[in-house]
Amino acid sequence: MAIQIKSLDQLALMRKAGLLVRSTLDLIRANIKAGTTTSALDAIAEANIKRGGGLSNFKGYHGFPATICVSINDEIVHGIPGDRMIVSGDIVSVDCGAIVQGWHGDAAFSVIVDSDNDERQKMLDVCEESMWHGIAAGVSGARLSDIGSAIEKFVNSQGKYGILREYGGHGIGTSMHMEPHILNYGRPGSGPKIEPGMAFAIEPMITLGSEKTRVLDDHWTVVTTDSSHGSHFENTYCIAPDGKPFVLTEVDGGRANLARFGIEISDLLA
Ligand code: MG
Ligand code: MG
Repeated sequence: MAIQIKSLDQLALMRKAGLLVRSTLDLIRANIKAGTTTSALDAIAEANIKRGGGLSNFKGYHGFPATICVSINDEIVHGIPGDRMIVSGDIVSVDCGAIVQGWHGDAAFSVIVDSDNDERQKMLDVCEESMWHGIAAGVSGARLSDIGSAIEKFVNSQGKYGILREYGGHGIGTSMHMEPHILNYGRPGSGPKIEPGMAFAIEPMITLGSEKTRVLDDHWTVVTTDSSHGSHFENTYCIAPDGKPFVLTEVDGGRANLARFGIEISDLLA
């Protein structure tokens, strides 16, 4: 299994793609409210990526018809934007990617519209925090399976959640989905060694019930088989040539969140 190794110049282009993804997600987040359609969010994303000089890596991907995935409640990932109106209480998960000068970024978040439900909000918080545990475990010199192991361990320490098995993180660079596939569960200490120049998208998907899913007749939307609601968070990060991590899809490079784990980010991409 060959994992693409990027130079600092190439990672700098991935940083541009990552920041474009982040600005797009921030804009979408600001526009998520009851009464908005998912296709309206898609149009906002398409315009922002174009304005930023990028291309969508979702549109046309194996025939996917839109710029973002919008997945609501029991839809966990790969929902297709359309006429569906967002209502109060919905969990809205948005996944977005962009290409800048041939280099890819990929990130996602979930939010509850007008949240007043502690149990569902906690599930989102656990999912987001598990992503940080995964990234913090995936430092230079670690083994690939340390990432999924850290995600699973944290999620299980917080309560009873389903962790999706059929979907996971991935290598990223000159394509959105590259080797290796990264499980969100498993034992630590196996798989390739993580090295400078590697970049990964880390994306835990968890539910309040079963981890089992099926794909709707639209051939894309992934829903839980027990209709339980779920969440999805994702960031793209790399190991810089100095051996330190840098989160390409966060404005601060992940500095604040990784500091909580005692991890210093690289200054090479700031
Ligand atoms: Mg994604
Ligand atoms: Mg991804």
